[in-house]
Amino acid sequence: GELDQYKIKKAITGKEKKLFESIELPPRPPAMCPGCPHRGIFYSLSRLKVFVSGDIGCYTLGALKPLSAMDTCVCMGASIGNAHGIEKALGKEAQGRVVAVIGDSTFLHSGITGIINVVYNRGTSTVIILDNRTTAMTGHQENPATGKTAMGEDTVEIDLERLCKAIGIERVRVVNPHRIDETERIIKEELSVEAPSVIISKAPCALLPEERRRKKPLYFVDSEACTGCRSCLRLACPAISWKGISEEEAKRRGRPKQRGISVISEVLCTGCGECEIVCKFDAIKEVK
Ligand code: SF4
Ligand code: SF4
Repeated sequence: GELDQYKIKKAITGKEKKLFESIELPPRPPAMCPGCPHRGIFYSLSRLKVFVSGDIGCYTLGALKPLSAMDTCVCMGASIGNAHGIEKALGKEAQGRVVAVIGDSTFLHSGITGIINVVYNRGTSTVIILDNRTTAMTGHQENPATGKTAMGEDTVEIDLERLCKAIGIERVRVVNPHRIDETERIIKEELSVEAPSVIISKAPCALLPEERRRKKPLYFVDSEACTGCRSCLRLACPAISWKGISEEEAKRRGRPKQRGISVISEVLCTGCGECEIVCKFDAIKEVK
């Protein structure tokens, strides 16, 4: 268990101080935050059913259900080398079916060598760099792509696009991952090309202070329009929940097989708009 100050105090003084009574909480699996920019990438990858060679960061949560869009996570910086190795081992069989996903700070820490290897060894891997403008998992530290030093001083901002081009990647695309439809189309396009490519997914972490302060739209589910298809739930956004409906209610709606509707929490929604794109029944709308 965790060694906290209360345990240490008890070990030294023999006295125990209970701050509060423990309570039973419902099990809650870890999930990406509402409005997380990684969600759009992993949702797209899960739809494309490609092999995803992952790396270490908050985005490793993309491995969990319902996204289930990460197949391997070996060690920090290994995603690109792993994808390249799979591509070399399987040859044509792997063409268009393997993607490496790596965070911006991990890429700058130990992913660059992998991409140099891809270029040097005539690889055709598609690499997605998740540029969320911070090092989120370990507590929002700066990194060489943010333009600030670890002490918060202004410094040179490494331009990931120019860096990848300088290494020799000719196909470098930048996407807004919240535009799920465009993101999926661009990943598909790059997978179909027999050349190495980099897709930079650029959108700030939803928990950055400036993002939290930014005024954003709010979304709601028009409960009458919701058909209960559950497509929006596949995004695994904690702001979207499911509410069951009775058989009578389903009949009243003219959809006797409908079992429930989706609901958006106005407290949790950060207005990324991904669910609005995913809903094919126009049931998710912006609050005007
Ligand atoms: S995708 Fe739209 S119609 Fe389907 S459950 Fe969600 S809100 Fe309802
Ligand atoms: S807009 Fe939709 S997907 Fe984005 S945070 Fe709000 S509920 Fe979640």
